[in-house]
Amino acid sequence: MPRKFFVGGNFKMNGLLADIDRIVDHLNASHLDPNTEVLISPPAIYLLHVRDRVKKGIEVAAQNCYSEKQGAFTGEISPLQIADSRIPWVIIGHSERRTLFGDHDHVVAEKVKAALEEGLNIILCVGETLEQREKGETLKVVEHQLDCVKKEVPAWAEVADRIVIAYEPVWAIGTGRVATASQAQEVHSDTRTWLASRVGKEAAENTRIIYGGSVSAKNCQELATQPDLDGFLVGGASLKPEFVDIINSHL
Ligand code: PEP
Repeated sequence: MPRKFFVGGNFKMNGLLADIDRIVDHLNASHLDPNTEVLISPPAIYLLHVRDRVKKGIEVAAQNCYSEKQGAFTGEISPLQIADSRIPWVIIGHSERRTLFGDHDHVVAEKVKAALEEGLNIILCVGETLEQREKGETLKVVEHQLDCVKKEVPAWAEVADRIVIAYEPVWAIGTGRVATASQAQEVHSDTRTWLASRVGKEAAENTRIIYGGSVSAKNCQELATQPDLDGFLVGGASLKPEFVDIINSHL
């Protein structure tokens, strides 16, 4: 079965209630390709509101979670609470979490494990910095990030259908500097090879590997032609009407 195209919108820490409502209402009123899985990820404080306002067929994700079920962890939300709130997805390992909030590889891996245990679906973000790319370390860095998760989740093959991998080169996020289609394809293809050797053939064939980093209505069509690119994780443009064009880029 072909992999279903997947487009997620990460609002980050943007928008007040009225802005979020405008975005959701625009999505609700738009024709969205039924062959594309669509997800939006508002700030945590608006998750339940968005869950109740968004039309059927658009899924909702938390932007982060902690690795414990509950306890003295002020400011955090747990996978158990996310699941209890009927939010089916969580983004883990976003580069802003990794660089600004100390979510190193092992922290990301623990969060993935905890979220899977609560039955959540995960968008696992990986990607290299500009310095790492310039040193020729891109594939090594991405494979290492995946290896760390595999160590915490040895039974990855059993939960592979609940993991979407987002390749997000750090130098492309929020910078307007998008990876070329061939740069993205190289990493996506290597990630699929990693899945085949470390998780299994079925997971390699079925896992959606999506691209994130300055995706826009202008550049999404060319990126979408790449054989191992199964969708997008969109930041800035997900706050704008062009998000609909990105969702429909695979039509
Ligand atoms: C992101 O935050 O995941 C992202 C890819 O951001 P942007 O599209 O703004 O580069």
